[in-house]
Amino acid sequence: MTRPLQAQIDLSALRHNLGVARVHAPQSKVMAVIKANGYGHGMLRVARALEAAEGFAVLNVDEAMALREAGFNQTILLLEGFFSADELPILAEYRLASVIHCLEQIEMLEMAGLPVKIEVFLKLNSGMNRLGFRPEALVAALQRLQAARAVGRVTLMTHFACADEAQGVAAQLACFDSLATGLDAPRSLANSAAILRYPQAHGDWVRPGIMLYGSSPFADASAASLDLKPVMTLTSAIIGLQELQTGEAVGYGAAFRAEHPMRVGIVACGYADGYPRHAPTGTPVFVNGQLSRTLGRVSMDMLCVDLTGIPGAGIGSPVTLWGEGLPVEEVARAAGTISYELLCALAPRVPVAEV
Ligand SMILES: *Cc1c(COP(=O)(O)O)cnc(C)c1O
Repeated sequence: MTRPLQAQIDLSALRHNLGVARVHAPQSKVMAVIKANGYGHGMLRVARALEAAEGFAVLNVDEAMALREAGFNQTILLLEGFFSADELPILAEYRLASVIHCLEQIEMLEMAGLPVKIEVFLKLNSGMNRLGFRPEALVAALQRLQAARAVGRVTLMTHFACADEAQGVAAQLACFDSLATGLDAPRSLANSAAILRYPQAHGDWVRPGIMLYGSSPFADASAASLDLKPVMTLTSAIIGLQELQTGEAVGYGAAFRAEHPMRVGIVACGYADGYPRHAPTGTPVFVNGQLSRTLGRVSMDMLCVDLTGIPGAGIGSPVTLWGEGLPVEEVARAAGTISYELLCALAPRVPVAEV
């Protein structure tokens, strides 16, 4: 018998979630964000399922080249642009679009002799203060790009810091709109949270990430309430059973101690698989069709679950760590993180099955 841990990737859920993005932003083209190996789901697998998207956004040239070589003809955007001038010939050859967020990148483009023009997304720092030109520097940057022989279409872009929070997008959107109004350029602003909550921020290209994978970007709204379907379901099984006596402990550090006699199941999944080691006792887990909780510390290859009230559970009983029936956001919340981190952290050693 092989180790029972497996990640199931539901391709029809991916397509469904793309449809949800389109319902919210019917006038916009979709740039499906598939960085970080498609948020842990497999970049090419996700791209194939989402081939109806008008574009894909990735982090680096290697990912973009792999997409082109796999036959995708859509716009492919490098979210941080190129990092050095020696990447520019590859951008030209593979027709990659580049975010431009700093003057150094503009200088490199001005110096480059390229056979074709590079499409660029000029990034405004509208308040997040991570990447991008400050408002007072944007127009000059745009003019230099428009004058550069190596540059093709320029789209104006910004990224929201608080679209998923109470603060919202108002100040950043006002900043962007005050500059973009009167400039004849396409626009791209919205991540998943802005797609779902701020139609005034949709623009020409929306950039959904987490919603495509079926997870809610909001702490105060479940994925189901947004009509999003989970794409990744991480399942395993019980591989060991222990009967704890009162006062006995389980796992490293003896971090959980039984207050009365109880049955404990040992599950084949640990932090080397991407399960968060910081998940404390009480993190939700689905065991043999019932909601239960983890106990004690997560080990490298195993974790422990409470079998109290699940008398039918034994060796081989199915366990769902997250996904169908147990939203990944709930596991993330218990572990003090967000669903993005759990999905991205799925380890390469976990076998994947497409369903
Ligand atoms: C990752 C990313 C997105 C997608 O964000 P989600 O919250 O996952 O929808 C959009 N735009 C940029 C610039 C990003 O880096």
